[in-house]
Amino acid sequence: MIDGLGRHITYLRLSVTDRCDLRCTYCMSENATFLPRKDILSLEEMAVIGHTFAALGVRKIRLTGGEPLIRHNITSLVRSLGALVGSGELDELTMTTNGTLLARHADELVHAGIRRINVSLDTLDPDAFAAITRRYRLGEVMNGLSAADAAGLRIKINRVMQAGVSEDDLDRMIEWCGRRGYDLTLIETMPLGDAGSGSNPVSLSSVRADLATRWQLSPMSDRTGGPARYFHVAETGGRLGLITPLSRHFCDDCNRVRVNCRGELRLCLGSGASVDLRPALRQSAPQKAMMDLIRSSIGSKPAAHAFSALSPQTATWSHLPMHAIGG
Ligand code: SAM
Ligand code: SF4
Repeated sequence: MIDGLGRHITYLRLSVTDRCDLRCTYCMSENATFLPRKDILSLEEMAVIGHTFAALGVRKIRLTGGEPLIRHNITSLVRSLGALVGSGELDELTMTTNGTLLARHADELVHAGIRRINVSLDTLDPDAFAAITRRYRLGEVMNGLSAADAAGLRIKINRVMQAGVSEDDLDRMIEWCGRRGYDLTLIETMPLGDAGSGSNPVSLSSVRADLATRWQLSPMSDRTGGPARYFHVAETGGRLGLITPLSRHFCDDCNRVRVNCRGELRLCLGSGASVDLRPALRQSAPQKAMMDLIRSSIGSKPAAHAFSALSPQTATWSHLPMHAIGG
């Protein structure tokens, strides 16, 4: 699949729910509204979508949400898509999770075909964790990480950076990730939806300059097909990634599209435009109908998002927050 600018689309982020057991301030308001359950695709329909994208040339699928592990029977979808890895039709199936339910699911994820996961964790301090997520659940995340380690999952920690929020434990987290063998990626807050626009973004250029006064950071050439730039941390031997949607464009080699839990294809995170896959999905030959629809839509993938064109303090680029789009 090649878009109008010659970019090869090889990565699908598939959101399995818009619901979550945390309420991170930059993602969801405490009283977030969710889609009616009848509007959310079944896991079988999501499997058809995943298989269709793989048939179109997508090589990697990431399951996300909302919180993917709260979706009842999520393992059945993981098994169905994991089979595509087994048959060589996909290179990788991964998941982004907040980790609260990992202790219960880590073993079955490995058996179903997942080898690597991203766990979102913004702080190691229980009170700061509760302030960011509005829930005292750091202990469950830590238990989940230990279970994921024991199950043999490779782990990357994603930490969303907000000015003045738990900045003081970043050094501790770099050291902790190095010790546990986790990659760590820092993400600039994107102003998505009401919750995102109320957050306090920080530029990662200044975070990096500050870290460089205490840590030896050498740029690495690694690209994982995503927007992160990586640095080797000499003191820990670990890898530090920076994702900078506000201060630096990463659109020229964007390889990804998203499908949310309602079956809407979004060609760019920074654009509200979407294509409804449901009519095609509900035809008698859904895979053929969806392939035609996706092929005809992919050419209109925007050249770039508009995040850096506006002030992060005053503008909301997307009316939907991250949990509803599928992060
Ligand atoms: N619940 C899962 C989790 O938190 O990992 C998966 C869904 S979450 C929406 C996916 C990722 O989006 C997380 O790493 C989260 O930190 C990130 N995220 C949410 N809102 C964001 C925002 N406004 N700006 C940047 N990243 C955001
Ligand atoms: Fe839930 Fe993930 Fe959003 Fe936090 S970032 S509220 S864990 S969906």
